Formats: sequence, C-alpha cells, structure tokens
Amino acid sequence: MQVPPFSLSKQIEELQPELDEAVLRVLRSGNYIGGQVVQAFEETFAASINVPYAIGCNSGTDALILALRALDIGQGDEVITCSFSFFATAEAISAVGATPVFVDVDPNDYLIDLQKVEDAISPATRAILPVHLFGRPVDMERLMKLAKKKDLKVIEDCAQACGTKWNDQSVGSWGDIGCFSFFPTKNLGAAGDAGATTTKDFHLAKRMRELAIHGMPRRYLHAELGYNSRLDAIQAAILNVKLPRLPAWIEKRQLIAARYQELLKDLQDIDLPVSNNQLNMVHSWNQYVIKVRNHPVDDSGKSQESINIDTEGIGKYGDSRSRDWLKASLYKNDINTIIYYPIPIHLQPAYQGLNYKIGELPIAEKLCSQVLSLPIFPEITFEQQKYVAEKIKQILSSATRLQVLT
Ligand SMILES: *Cc1c(COP(=O)(O)O)cnc(C)c1O
Repeated sequence: MQVPPFSLSKQIEELQPELDEAVLRVLRSGNYIGGQVVQAFEETFAASINVPYAIGCNSGTDALILALRALDIGQGDEVITCSFSFFATAEAISAVGATPVFVDVDPNDYLIDLQKVEDAISPATRAILPVHLFGRPVDMERLMKLAKKKDLKVIEDCAQACGTKWNDQSVGSWGDIGCFSFFPTKNLGAAGDAGATTTKDFHLAKRMRELAIHGMPRRYLHAELGYNSRLDAIQAAILNVKLPRLPAWIEKRQLIAARYQELLKDLQDIDLPVSNNQLNMVHSWNQYVIKVRNHPVDDSGKSQESINIDTEGIGKYGDSRSRDWLKASLYKNDINTIIYYPIPIHLQPAYQGLNYKIGELPIAEKLCSQVLSLPIFPEITFEQQKYVAEKIKQILSSATRLQVLT
C-alpha cells in the first residue's frame, strides 16, 4: 500500500466538473485581474472568519508583508515571533525592514510561549506575530490581553489554520490582522499561490488593498511604495468552489487525527499531539505531528547510517537519528512522511547575522530533531491510516531502545 503525505487527486476528481466550469468561465470572460469572482471570494471568506474585510493577495507570505506594512512596522522595529514555524513567518518581518525576535515554544503544543513573549518585550517591540502552527490555535485571549497591556499590534499567521478557532472565534479575527495562505497543501488550497488578509479595521483593509496594488489609492496616483500582489481571478474561482467544502474537510481532518490518536496510543517511543479537549478550541489539523523520542536501533544491529538517511543539514541541533530512522524505515514501506521543520528559523544560514546560538531556544531546536508529520489529508482512507500505524508499531518494536540522549 502506498501512502503519500498529502494528495489532491481524489479531491480534484470529485470537484472536477465544478472546477473546470469555474476556471473556464473566468478564462472565457477575459476578466483575469480583480472583478466579481475575486470580490465574491473575499466576501465569503471574510464572512467565514466573521470579519468585515478580507483582502486577497498573491500568497501567505505577501499577506504577512502587507499586514506588517499596513501597521507601519519597519526599520528599527522589533516583532516577536516563534522560531518553530515555516521560514516565511520571519522572512516577512525582515522583508519590511523590521527585526524578528525569536522566542521559544511550549514543549506540549509547540506553539509560541506567551510567558517568553512577555519577557522578550523591549522598547523597540511593535508587534507580536503568533503562528497557529499545524492548525492548532494559540491562546488568543491571553495573547490579546498581553498585547493590550503592552500596547502592541498583533498579526496572526493563520497560514496553516484555515478553519481553526479559539473559544468559538476564528483565528484571523482576534488580532489586528490575520494572514492566510491558500498554497495547495493548506486546508483551503488554490491551484497555485494565493493568500488573503483579514481585519475588522476599515483603514487597515483599505491600506492593505492599496499596498497590494502598487500603493495606489486611485488609478495612477501612487501614495506610497507598494507591491504587485493580487489574488488571481482564476485562483479565486477555484477557491469559490472549494470554500463551501472547507467545514466538511476540517471535520474529516479531525476524524483522521482522532483515529491516529487511537491507533498510536500506548507506543512508548513517540509522543502524540496533546488533545486539549478541555479547551474550547477547534483544531483544524493541517498537520498531524508526532515526536520521536528515543533512539531505536535496527534489530539486526545495523546502524542507522546503513539505512541511507538523508540528513543533510538535519540533526545539528539535537539527536535526530531516531526520527530520521523511523522516517527512512516508513519510506521503505511506501509511507512518505515529512519533517516540519528540520531547522529552527533562528539557526537558518539566512539569519546568521542575528547571532543566535545553538542552545538559545532549546525547545524549538529539540523539536526540529524529533518531529515527524504523518500523512494527513481529508481523503486518506482508514485502511491507509491503519497501515501507517501498523508499520510504525512494527518498526519501533523491532528496535532496541537506548537511553534518551538529551
Ligand atoms: C505556508 C506558510 C506561510 C507562507 O504562505 P505562502 O502562501 O506559501 O507564501 C507562512 N507561514 C506559515 C506558518 C506557513 O505554513
């Protein structure tokens, strides 16, 4: 049995007549930039988040850049964020000339540690940029309280969290601005790059709209330097077909996650995602991420090296051999898993200039050597999940467990 980490083929098959029609209608209309199709998506998307404004743009990365610019964050400003995320989170902060200040994450839910956010606030801090990583919401009540107390702006990175809620309120509606990505592997995916920002503030909405079109409040009047970052009409047409399906897809992702929790419980060598059931939150499960704890060795006495693990750039920040070994063994069984993320952002070569040292954000660093994302997408079958679980069990039980290396 083959299990890909993510697959769109069933979804495309199911939606094909509607997708074909929607795309062809735009193609034949000749209206490729802006227009009714884009506006319709922005309105429905805003309504789904329960905010008055959603502004389509070119990508989730651009959404973050537009948000930071609209809040006048730039040179000399610090923005507090987490190092355990996709690189774009920090890259956007640097792109507007500001400095990302990385804080560590909570070891249980992998989300930004709000106590450490408070400790990192300096006179130069202008904003907090939390990431609802893997589809799990940050405690936005607590974060907004802190932001209010310290007079800081809040930009939510909701790229992986379309459909996520904290206390019955969608992410992207808590902070000043929410930033979404419709990259094909996200919960709501376009057929290429696409993104959006959300806000309750009319002026921020207007500013982001103008920034996305060359800083142009009206035709050929350029009030400031902006970008060319629009949501394509063809992408909007695809998103219009998919958006009504999102709630059902999220429910499937939740069911799939619950099945993994059940199938994988009682395994000593891995930690499953914590299931904060007591909290009033909706986890949208963009990823199902396990932590591989111990250091299993192949029964036959072969070392991991002989399994041919691609560890280039991986494992410098902690012992990743167990994780890499499990990943490689699953791969041999046609199960393809992904590491989100192998290198913490503060230790990326691109951020050498910020002078973070190995050991400075120990939890994020250790996670990078232990996390493994199992296959998850709404159309994965129970059979495929059972096969994944079975193989994980087999592989782990064939191993002699050694001491945890800390
Ligand atoms: C995907 C992603 C982004 C960037 O979105 P793009 O649409 O790929 O530009 C930003 N932050 C996080 C956490 C992401 O997962």
